[in-house]
Amino acid sequence: MGVWLNTPLAEAVGGKTARTLQDKLALSTVGDLLRHYPRRYNQRGQLTDLSRLQIGDKVTVLARVLKVSKRQPRQYGRGKVKIMYDVVITDGNGVLTCTFFNRWDIGKQLQPNDEALFSGTISRFRDVLQITSPQFDKFKDDDEPVDQIERIEMFANGIIPIYPLSEGLTQATLQECVKVVLQLLDDVPDPVPSELLAAHGLSDLDTALRNVHRPGNQKLLDQARERLRYDEALSVQLVLARRRARARDYPAEPCPRIPDGLLAAFDARLPFELTGGQRAVGEQIAKDLATIHPMNRLLQGEVGSGKTVVALRAMLQVIDAGRQAVLLAPTEVLAAQHARSLRTVLGPLGHGGELGAPAEATKITLLTGSLSTAARREALLDIASGQAGITVGTHALLSEGVFFAELGLMVVDEQHRFGVEQRDALRTKHPDGNPPHVLVMTATPIPRTVAMTVYGDLDTSTLTELPRGRAPISTTVVSVTEHPGWLDRAWQRVREEAAKGHQTYVVCPKIGDDAQDGRAGSGVEPADPGEFEADGDGPRRPPLAVQQVADMLSAGALADLRLGILHGRLPPTEKDAMMRAFSAGEVDVLVATTVIEVGVDVPNASMMVIMDAERFGMSQLHQLRGRVGRGSTGGVCLLVTEADPETRGMARLRAVEKTADGFALAEADLELRREGDVLGTTQAGRSSSLRQLSLLRDREVIEQARSDAQGLVGDDPSLRRFPGLAEMLASVIAEDSQEYLEKG
Ligand code: ADP
Ligand code: MG
Repeated sequence: MGVWLNTPLAEAVGGKTARTLQDKLALSTVGDLLRHYPRRYNQRGQLTDLSRLQIGDKVTVLARVLKVSKRQPRQYGRGKVKIMYDVVITDGNGVLTCTFFNRWDIGKQLQPNDEALFSGTISRFRDVLQITSPQFDKFKDDDEPVDQIERIEMFANGIIPIYPLSEGLTQATLQECVKVVLQLLDDVPDPVPSELLAAHGLSDLDTALRNVHRPGNQKLLDQARERLRYDEALSVQLVLARRRARARDYPAEPCPRIPDGLLAAFDARLPFELTGGQRAVGEQIAKDLATIHPMNRLLQGEVGSGKTVVALRAMLQVIDAGRQAVLLAPTEVLAAQHARSLRTVLGPLGHGGELGAPAEATKITLLTGSLSTAARREALLDIASGQAGITVGTHALLSEGVFFAELGLMVVDEQHRFGVEQRDALRTKHPDGNPPHVLVMTATPIPRTVAMTVYGDLDTSTLTELPRGRAPISTTVVSVTEHPGWLDRAWQRVREEAAKGHQTYVVCPKIGDDAQDGRAGSGVEPADPGEFEADGDGPRRPPLAVQQVADMLSAGALADLRLGILHGRLPPTEKDAMMRAFSAGEVDVLVATTVIEVGVDVPNASMMVIMDAERFGMSQLHQLRGRVGRGSTGGVCLLVTEADPETRGMARLRAVEKTADGFALAEADLELRREGDVLGTTQAGRSSSLRQLSLLRDREVIEQARSDAQGLVGDDPSLRRFPGLAEMLASVIAEDSQEYLEKG
């Protein structure tokens, strides 16, 4: 009897084991098991002969734990080491000491008489042979040592697959199951057309699956992985290509440009020349809007590159076609600010319905959660009657009973703050059944591979030049450890700016009323793990908080200035009032969390001081500093840090100091992030199901797969012509990730 990829595991390995695999690892078919790739491989080393080890040897030894002892760090004079374990092991012939630094779990993981495979490099410390921080895989008590050696002998050329496990499953069980399944497995048909495989020089699926579990040598393993990596890239891109194909199938209201409408009137009174980029992107969008299928476009551009004008012109084109536009902002502060600035740039053209307004004028309606009941009722009426040409709001708009008369265009500002589901919900806010055109704007430069996956369903436009007259921002790292006096100098500088009538932001990583802190407002990125070790003695001090810093400044260095605070947990009305006061110049210094990161635009703010700067990601620092120097005076950004000069945290700050290129910083940030985080948790909080594919390293594969997927899907989103591909897609990409990509 043979098995296929879609055969239930119970038929291959028996009901009881199948249930365990299902419960512990959610593996239900033969294909699931075979796509559960080894996380690494142990090479059989001098398995039984510890006595012949040489310094520098890379070895894997099967050994028993003799003794586990904990050492206190201080006596060894290594400030970075908080705890050390010495684990003495034996194979029966010789003994060897394994040393672990800062592995708090070792005492629990390894106990005398435990059997395990240890692998690492042999070194010498004070004339004793040892392995520093070996990797190890423990055997369970019920494995007889003799069995273990036999088991290891059974692998081709001694390359032993080590699988990701979960509690209650042993390596032995998984290795055995894979062995059985591979023996039963019929030749696996390849879902990927052979022309593609040949063109890319990829091995067939059957070979790849067998070799990833039983590699005869490194070369075969590399080939197997290359093929499986392609499968993942192709699966992701197929999901996206299908989504694009389906979206194309929807009808949309065409909104062609007209020569004498609101847009033309607006262009005529525009106080500046559009940049070349704004014009080119504008043309592209104008064309999209005129078609009978919905636009789905991502507009990228640095802070201050003039995205809003581009979006506004798109909205006006839609209004000229007799439809409505909605602009969604991530916060109430931003929504209010957008509404204000749209009213300003539109001038009389935004006074629709009022006495004396030009005939083509439209009405701008702000709809946020903090409106009074009466104001809200009026706003809803304007929206439902079609009076409101432009509605500005937050995503609260999505959850409440808001219906548009003729929604034609949805603009989402700073998409990374929006959940995908919310974007989807908005698409349903159109009573006549046709989805609106969608324009997503983001100022976060998105590395290309991420754009191709996470935003892979959208067409992309990028504004690369900044409007003329924008002065550059100068960034300086203020290292408190190296130059204790500089912080005072920084506050002095803030006073000088204030004396010139300019304003300053002071950004802190934390709000400060402790309850849910650590997650700091809207976004402290995970601290660099390396720094915990490199941090010297004692625990790292908690991040600086808004309230604490504001108190300190108002009692000291900035006592004579007008200080305000802003963070995500203030009531919306207070937030709005504070932003208004800051915009109006009634506050000199705004102490805030990263709430100000997103789109806040106060041209008079010329300086930013970021406290505990090493706690932020590079992209985020870049975003933050974009908030200053929006006027013509240029801006200053100070990155205040207590990080040691030699740490990675400091290296990142130096990189932000040196480069003004947001894309370069975004790519660098990606390198520091754990894989997985990119596809999954960036937005939906789920982890990625990509195992072999790296968004960082595999750009070429992703690009290739993208064009292959486009060709395969063509105009057949259900993949009827390639049933095997649909199946592969289901087995490679976890269902929720699929849904996540589907929703885009
Ligand atoms: P973004 O939303 O991309 O951060 P904005 O659209 O808010 O940028 O533009 C930033 C500022 O630059 C605004 O005050 C806007 O009026 C101004 N601006 C936009 N385009 C131009 C241009 N072509 N020339 C001069 N100023 C411009
Ligand atoms: Mg903006």
